[in-house]
Amino acid sequence: MTNYEAKKQILDKIKEYNKIIIFRHFRPDGDAVGSTLGLREILRLTYPEKDIRLINADYSDYVKFLGNEDEAVEDEFYADALGLVLDTGTEDRISNKKYPLCRELVKIDHHIVDKHYGDYHWVIEEKSSTCEMIAEFYDTFKDELKISTQAATYIYCGMVTDSGRFRYRDVSGDTLRLAGLMLDQGVNTDLLYANLYLKDFNEYKFESYAHEKMEITENGLVYLYVDKEMQEKFALTNEQASASVSFMDGIRGSIIWIAFIDNADGTIRVRLRSRFVPVNPLAEKYRGGGHECACGATLHSKEEMALFIADADALIKDYKENNEGWL
Ligand code: AMP
Repeated sequence: MTNYEAKKQILDKIKEYNKIIIFRHFRPDGDAVGSTLGLREILRLTYPEKDIRLINADYSDYVKFLGNEDEAVEDEFYADALGLVLDTGTEDRISNKKYPLCRELVKIDHHIVDKHYGDYHWVIEEKSSTCEMIAEFYDTFKDELKISTQAATYIYCGMVTDSGRFRYRDVSGDTLRLAGLMLDQGVNTDLLYANLYLKDFNEYKFESYAHEKMEITENGLVYLYVDKEMQEKFALTNEQASASVSFMDGIRGSIIWIAFIDNADGTIRVRLRSRFVPVNPLAEKYRGGGHECACGATLHSKEEMALFIADADALIKDYKENNEGWL
């Protein structure tokens, strides 16, 4: 199936249904929230006669400025509905666990995975964000679909955040052209960037403390363990604690860096990032996944954390010995 055919099949499915429910992954980021809010807005503007809901089981403080999702509905609503699952590589990461109740399910995503779920897929691993795919979907069918400043703001927000402000390697000419198409709708970038960049005072204090506490291995792996005590000391939400991975992203020679964050349930969240070296096989070894240079996983113990650190360190060593041009 060509890229166009995959999109056309999804548009035809959308037209076929009167009820549509949109889903995303749990612990959402700007792309998950932006793509789902953006698509909901486009579909509501284009098809006012359809009942379109965005229903998930959790939300994010970081991007809650974008707006609200919808309330839960009775199970009967699902039975007649088309489910659109956005930005979610694997089924177990879907936030709203009622998705199997939908009559049919469509997956729209850009994560690396070997096994798909749902009845129809439009998956492009090389895309910098799911929001870029929604912008492309709009662009392809713009004679039929309607957009607004608000919808473009949601989509632009996800494009900006998931591409590291248009820095990551998946950013292409198309990414920037589609971002331009969104900006043309009148996005207020002053307000958007203020919402994305402003931090509370305690977050700044945490950042300087984190710089003190981060460790470096012989081969240049930099990591930080944000344990429960550290989270309490700075009154951090799990999301604020997790943001610490970005404190380590500019250290010369440290081509892999990791934040480990204690979760309330006793597990440890891993946020794994890299320059040049693909880290998705490492994340997959520990039941996680994601993209080539940005992955996540969940560990069950500190012993497993030590193994993860040793594996990441070995990966850097091997990469540095066998490759040139890294910084
Ligand atoms: P994060 O560090 O949570 O921002 O995750 C980085 C990327 O990896 C995102 O695209 C996530 O959707 C993905 N990801 C995070 N955790 C997991 C996991 N446990 N399994 C598969 N993919 C994940």
